[in-house]
Amino acid sequence: MLVGAGLSGAVIGRELAEAGHRVTVADSRPHVAGNCHTERDAGTGVMVHVYGPHIFHTDDEEVWAYVNRFARFMPYTNRVKITAQGQVLSLPVNLHTINQFFGAAMRPEEARAFIAARCEASTAEPRTFEEQALRFVGRELYEALFKGYTMKQWGRHPAKLPASVLKRLPLRFDYDDNYFAHRFQGMPQHGYTQLVEAMLDHPNIEVRLGTPVRRADAGGYDHVFNAGPIDGWFDHCLGRLGYRTLDFHRFVHDGDYQGCAVMNYGDPEVPWTRVTEHKHFSPWERHDASVLYREHPRECGPDDIPYYPIRLATEKQMLGDYIALARAGRGITFVGRLGTYRYLDMDVTVREALDTARTYLACVETGAEMPAFAANLSG
Ligand code: UDP
Repeated sequence: MLVGAGLSGAVIGRELAEAGHRVTVADSRPHVAGNCHTERDAGTGVMVHVYGPHIFHTDDEEVWAYVNRFARFMPYTNRVKITAQGQVLSLPVNLHTINQFFGAAMRPEEARAFIAARCEASTAEPRTFEEQALRFVGRELYEALFKGYTMKQWGRHPAKLPASVLKRLPLRFDYDDNYFAHRFQGMPQHGYTQLVEAMLDHPNIEVRLGTPVRRADAGGYDHVFNAGPIDGWFDHCLGRLGYRTLDFHRFVHDGDYQGCAVMNYGDPEVPWTRVTEHKHFSPWERHDASVLYREHPRECGPDDIPYYPIRLATEKQMLGDYIALARAGRGITFVGRLGTYRYLDMDVTVREALDTARTYLACVETGAEMPAFAANLSG
């Protein structure tokens, strides 16, 4: 039994089905693909990333080949802009950003020396987001590009957030404005929902939508893979793990609203973090009208959709207690972003799901006990 028909559930389900197991994939929502669900907007024909933008990028050749088995991936390069302090700048921070922001025309080595002179490096290894940013780009760029955005995104001061959040972004001293540094990047031609549907399209797989699964329903199956929230599985008995949720304010525009797929907003006075213009995620299609989302992050309540795990010290401690509880049980493995309470890119989700399925098949073969977690949870 797979709880959740997102990427984890679909990949594990597919691998077990191909190995001859009969599997049931249940999801509480009326559609597959979890938060990467896409849907064509009836009014405009634009493919909409219903729960916010997802861009597939990876260095993992096997994962890239795997997703390409189920959908045609179209070339797509994520290029993000940010509106801050009255200008539009290029992201991630690159030579263009630095020259634009400081009104200069520096070459790479000059810019490197210029930024190094502005960086505030304490002797210790940076622990917080703020320390990392001050060491990485200096105060001016930190305040324009990262401070306001991060306060809105996380609802916390960057001095209270771990450095790891910022370490996801590169700093470049050339004009490369590709948001991701991976070898493979693309968008499924007909959206992620069709990709996941193709994975689940197998005679050994039964999909049950609109079907929430609780612990009490899980008996009678050889094994359960739970991609739902780990704290919810245990009825929040040790407390609720904190998440940020997003409110999407949808609007339509006749024409091209912003000229790019993703426009971030760095100023703290602007209440949203970014505006996404969905037709630009499918640059091979032509649409006159446009569908846009303004993203407003806020703390996730019990009835909201969890997006970003917060993972501060208190949450990590609670997670440790849930992990111990999970390990004390049998017949269940926790997978994916919600099952393991980690920020996961889609390629990592697919990689871990493939590895989990292989571990399970090996356990069945040898009679060994399938662990509660197949992923590496350190960090
Ligand atoms: N970030 C920022 N300003 C930006 C973009 C990102 O301060 O314009 C920070 C923010 O804290 C964010 C983190 O960098 O959570 C990681 O950014 P990423 O683009 O990976 O966020 P995601 O796409 O996962 O929301």
